[in-house]
Amino acid sequence: MCVRQKVMDKIESRPLGKVEKPKKVSGYFGSHTFNIRAMQKRVSKKTLAAFRHWLAEGITISVHEADEIAGAMKDWAVEKGAVYYAHWFQPMTGLTAEKHDSFISLQGAGQVTEKFSGSRLILGEPDASSFPSGGIRSTFEARGYTAWDPSSPAFISETQLGRTLCIPSIFVSYHGYALDKKLPLLRSDEVLSKAAIKLLKLFNRKEVKKVVSTCGPEQEYFLLDHNYYKLRPDLILTGRTLIGASSPKGQQLEDQYFGSIKERVLNYMEEVSVEAYKMGIPVATRHNEVAPHQFEFAPIFEESNIAADHNQLLMEIMKKVALRHDLVCLLHEKPFAGINGSGKHVNWSIADDQGNNLLNPGQTPQDNLQFLAILVAVLRAVNRHADLLRASIASAGNEHRLGANEAPPAIVSVFLGEQLTNILDTIENGAKHKVSKKDIIDLGVGRLPKVNKDATDRNRTSTFAFTGTKFEFRAVGSSQNISWPLTVINTIIADSLNYVAAEIARELKSKDLDSAVISVIAMVAKENKQIRFEGNNYSPEWVREAAERGLPNVAATAEALAAFTTRENIEIFEKQGVLSQDELMARYNIWVEMYNIVLTIEANTLREMVDSIVVPAGFEYQGQLAENLERISRLRDKIGLNIDDKAFDDLKGHLADVTNKIYYVRKNTQSLVKLLDKAKSLEGKEKAEVYFNELKPLMEHIRKHSDDLECVIADEHWDLPKYREMLFVM
Ligand code: ADP
Ligand code: MG
Repeated sequence: MCVRQKVMDKIESRPLGKVEKPKKVSGYFGSHTFNIRAMQKRVSKKTLAAFRHWLAEGITISVHEADEIAGAMKDWAVEKGAVYYAHWFQPMTGLTAEKHDSFISLQGAGQVTEKFSGSRLILGEPDASSFPSGGIRSTFEARGYTAWDPSSPAFISETQLGRTLCIPSIFVSYHGYALDKKLPLLRSDEVLSKAAIKLLKLFNRKEVKKVVSTCGPEQEYFLLDHNYYKLRPDLILTGRTLIGASSPKGQQLEDQYFGSIKERVLNYMEEVSVEAYKMGIPVATRHNEVAPHQFEFAPIFEESNIAADHNQLLMEIMKKVALRHDLVCLLHEKPFAGINGSGKHVNWSIADDQGNNLLNPGQTPQDNLQFLAILVAVLRAVNRHADLLRASIASAGNEHRLGANEAPPAIVSVFLGEQLTNILDTIENGAKHKVSKKDIIDLGVGRLPKVNKDATDRNRTSTFAFTGTKFEFRAVGSSQNISWPLTVINTIIADSLNYVAAEIARELKSKDLDSAVISVIAMVAKENKQIRFEGNNYSPEWVREAAERGLPNVAATAEALAAFTTRENIEIFEKQGVLSQDELMARYNIWVEMYNIVLTIEANTLREMVDSIVVPAGFEYQGQLAENLERISRLRDKIGLNIDDKAFDDLKGHLADVTNKIYYVRKNTQSLVKLLDKAKSLEGKEKAEVYFNELKPLMEHIRKHSDDLECVIADEHWDLPKYREMLFVM
């Protein structure tokens, strides 16, 4: 029995864990967070009011108030068993980072007490010289600072050995450059708020003081038995399988999607939910996804800023809890070739401080005009900045997904549904078009449309689909930090809201409000028509049509990222104050570099696996065949064994075939080594181009030959867990 087969035995005989009787969620939801309720119990009314004022209007609290909050937070955390605290932040590499400091402070000889001051709560200084800064942080000012983000509650992170108070923070350089993904998101929300308020004022909604973006990210993932994982260097080092023949049964029958959830998985999901609820993450749905062993969690939507933190936390919880169940949670966008990859649908909308969703078609025609004005602003933003949206989701992992036939293509387009399409077309044509009474009331005279939100249909192939009360950006990668795509969405839509508001204001000089708004809706809808597509986004016809329309369709990551370097795009970020040119260029440099690093690691892992696992297995089997052939041949001569010539040739042919397959694998791997060597002298975009155009196809080629070999080698010689096992036996 080979290692792989022994592991199979272990998996089959694994007993299911015992699940505790679930507790009532409302009894412990958010118990690990220092939320407003926890704060209320521990700080003075005056300080709490100042804190709320800070959140609502951005007026900072005093040093004294910060001290009081810090003390309360510390007492709360210490009661929960925390010894350390950490500023928890999101560096540009996408993971989260934390540097732990103890609460203890020396009190004379041999005595300590727990202390935490306002200044330590507000500002931290991680030893940050090794976080990527893309050139922003030059050596003479190597320090980066973390600063408390009061809008996201502090929380307790738990491991078996201890608990830590984590303080959500932003990460900036000495000169205030954003070194993380969080600060730009906060800035973009402010910009969006200002723009939306400007527009709402025109609709006489003067009471609105703040507008926020909202987000509900649907998180897809795979689960895999840990025993398989340990035998796959590619999964350990790169998060995806670099080789592996497809299983004869994949997702063709679509029986996973509709099937019941396996008990082992359900136990896992149960525990993830409990951990998420403790952190105040409102996980609401959980289900099987299309591919075997693929699943999804989706929370109830929250303010983007909180949703982004919660998604990062949820991903950490998902990985941590998996290990407790002897499972591994794979968040890579494409862990297995030939079946669906994983995405993260970012559902996005805007809401005012009165609790109104601004993308909710309203009850009155007047509300509907406001809704349509915002809707066309979104259309304009996506149309003018499709390249930025594409760039916001560009990564080595997502590159496998975009354009493959289960995922949205790399072409960005908007789906609106039949009714909204009809309404916009009617308005655009000055109501000359015939429309059904159901959709439009009195469009000819009062010209005010009626929108029925329940009527919105679904298109699950669209990149940016309107789904009734929100847009769904479906191209985001499963492992991605959603802060960045949200930042881009907020920024470009803020820009368009400003534009729409300015145009309406201009029209108002000569028209009444309804007429002014309708003419702007008509104009913006008309100018941005090309971004709308209602058909099947996976079809080859759409690729052709999109090309005719001149819509960008960029497959390569580095080429997509280049959108952050164009004059026009830098301007939009600078004009709004979301990111400076330096900050944007830094991101571009880091992400191109990351692409190169990921591919270098993948290529080296592949080479090592081929040389040390695949080829040796091939030789073993080849030796067995050779020995066998020799024996048979000897017997034929010695005892006159009567073998058909064709049968004998078949034996020879099989040995030759295996030998040739080994040769192809080896030959191409030697080319890979040469190519990696050549690429050593390259960097940045140039290297990424070579990697995309030459390295990736070569890796695919090696994979093909290795997978061919896997399919003929005797099972007992193949130690790498196979697709048919990883995806079906758990
Ligand atoms: P789907 O049918 O697309 O799978 P789900 O109901 O599973 O839809 O998920 C939709 C996600 O969209 C949920 O996380 C939900 O909370 C979120 N969502 C709903 N309304 C809004 C909104 N106004 N803003 C942002 N996200 C929203
Ligand atoms: Mg869903």
